[in-house]
Amino acid sequence: MKKIMILSGAGLSAESGISTFRDSNGLWENHDVMKVCSTKGWIEDHKAVTKFYNERRHELEFKKPNNAHKVLAQLEKDYRGRIIHLTQNIDDLMEKAGAKEVIHLHGTLTDLRCEACTKIYSIGYRAQGESEKCPNCGNNRVRHNVVMFGEHAPNYSYLSQAIKECSLFIAIGTSGAVIDIVPIAKEFKNSIIIDPKRQSTRSMYDPKPHIDEYFEYFIQKKAGESMDEMLSIVDEYMKSSSKYKHK
Ligand SMILES: [Zn+2]
Repeated sequence: MKKIMILSGAGLSAESGISTFRDSNGLWENHDVMKVCSTKGWIEDHKAVTKFYNERRHELEFKKPNNAHKVLAQLEKDYRGRIIHLTQNIDDLMEKAGAKEVIHLHGTLTDLRCEACTKIYSIGYRAQGESEKCPNCGNNRVRHNVVMFGEHAPNYSYLSQAIKECSLFIAIGTSGAVIDIVPIAKEFKNSIIIDPKRQSTRSMYDPKPHIDEYFEYFIQKKAGESMDEMLSIVDEYMKSSSKYKHK
């Protein structure tokens, strides 16, 4: 059975008005990224970090999924069990669009996590209280459920699993700055990259200068504007009876 691996990043949510630190010179909504997104910053001033994520969560309540989120959510329904969608985004716009099976590699803004028992629970868009305790184990401090610099990202194990199981790879709105997509693309004969900009590869060991050169198809458009083209490739691929293989 043919399966599709989707890896999405900030470019998927950009058209919904979600900004990220990567396109703002190390400042995320006027905050120093290393203070609000690192374990060091968390240890030094957890109240400031909590406030930062409370604000992001509050903003998220009013953000709406764009065309790309909706098409990808529909794709999940149309090919139930055959899509592995891994996102680097911490927003819930895929879920707002109706998706049920998205794997958030860097965590989720609408959840909190206990520092002691690691239980994750939803808080929706409300602010985390100053003395909020874990509802599971009762008396321990909770924190945002977003992976910080300097921390292990447990869901990364799904990446290698998806590479093994899938035969079509689609990268949407990710420049490869956090997760290098060139080695992933090299594993696939069939692949699509969607990005409005041509991105250079980052490793000196890559002989091709642009990331898109490692992909079968390059759709040089914003995520929301690329979906018709992507769908026609996906539909053709899923219908074709030809044998498919990894490279
Ligand atoms: Zn707990």
